Amino acid sequence: MNSNEIDLHKELKKYFGFSQFKGLQEQVVKSITQKKNTFVIMPTGGGKSLCYQLPALIQKGTAIVVSPLIALMKNQVDAIRSLSSESGIAHVLNSSLNKTEINQVKKDITSGITKLLYVAPESLTKEEYVEFLKGVTISFVAIDEAHCISEWGHDFRPEYRNLRSIIKQLGDVPIIGLTATATPKVQEDILKNLDMSDAAVFKASFNRPNLFYEVRTKTKNVEADIIRFIKQKKGKSGIVYCLSRKKVEEIAEVLQVNGISAVPYHAGLDAKTRAKHQDMFLMEDVEVVVATIAFGMGIDKPDVRFVIHHDIPKSLESYYQETGRAGRDGGEGHCLAYYSYKDVEKLEKFMSGKPVAEQDIGFALLQEVVAYAETSMSRRKFLLHYFGEEFDGETGEGADMDDNVRNPKVKVEAQDNVKK
Ligand code: ADP
Ligand code: MG
Repeated sequence: MNSNEIDLHKELKKYFGFSQFKGLQEQVVKSITQKKNTFVIMPTGGGKSLCYQLPALIQKGTAIVVSPLIALMKNQVDAIRSLSSESGIAHVLNSSLNKTEINQVKKDITSGITKLLYVAPESLTKEEYVEFLKGVTISFVAIDEAHCISEWGHDFRPEYRNLRSIIKQLGDVPIIGLTATATPKVQEDILKNLDMSDAAVFKASFNRPNLFYEVRTKTKNVEADIIRFIKQKKGKSGIVYCLSRKKVEEIAEVLQVNGISAVPYHAGLDAKTRAKHQDMFLMEDVEVVVATIAFGMGIDKPDVRFVIHHDIPKSLESYYQETGRAGRDGGEGHCLAYYSYKDVEKLEKFMSGKPVAEQDIGFALLQEVVAYAETSMSRRKFLLHYFGEEFDGETGEGADMDDNVRNPKVKVEAQDNVKK
């Protein structure tokens, strides 16, 4: 071990109180402290924030962190401040600040106190800020949720496309891109748009060996089937995802009538009700939350035991994210999706109102979901292959954890062989 490594552990302990790096963190931190362009692909919860926070804290100058969500930025700034006696160590720069606050931020950056400056991409395009940042020491620019740069990602934000040209104005500063989006297509887009084909790439495995994947054909009896499934998991927490608010309300009611404690969650409910239902789920006052995809961002309940998709998701990326909320603690996590071609047609119809380019992408993503639902191969292998990851269906971790592997479908060719 060289002295560099020992130091990093010491700094990790000093700032975060952790005695070990998680996964690829240490290699990533080293790459960043060596001023290399760096690209980090890790699943949600993998510990991406620390990858740029630690190098920022131990280097000279201010690291700029671009992040799409103001609420998340505030949380991170508060968390960093709690690690230090100096509240100026981290700041957010956004449109909600008044003149006095902006001046304080600038003062702290100029005097070298500020190690992390969180900005929304639209703030970074402001001439005034760019001019100011040109004159100060920047350690690096971290772009969190970097998939926002790609139309193939699940959260495309056009402002992200301007980042590269703005960063260029700041001089020769390293760029760190971070995302939990594992598809090769999105990764390619990120590297291209940020003009960092030279980046050191760190990609963690996306395999979740404790999750069991299952697809069932959706029939008229889907509700009865769901009720039976949930009753078998009595006392356990789960999420049922539906496409529409109306369906969420319907299913929540059907479950309640059948003696399952469930609450609805969707963007049509007022904020107070949403917060209440979310808390009830977290506190285990109810077993099941029936929700649209509005539910789940930032939810960290470790013992969600099942995630049911009443309707198929619009991409495998979202399916992976949504099912990823099961079994965070490493325990049981059953992921059950109901599939019917009628639902696919419904989604296609939804999309037909959108601009052509968006439609093309939407259809292509949906076709992958169809292929996943209809495949007779290992679902884990299929999912990971979609994410550009080779999975050994014989010896890989969790290899037998899906319906196709447990109960192989009888293939037509196989029957022919038997007859001979
Ligand atoms: P991501 O952005 O990849 O989804 P976060 O950065 O939010 O993940 O981190 C997820 C959780 O992991 C946080 O609660 C964080 O405190 C924890 N964490 C990160 N690094 C470590 C570590 N080295 N040891 C223990 N916990 C860690
Ligand atoms: Mg994150």
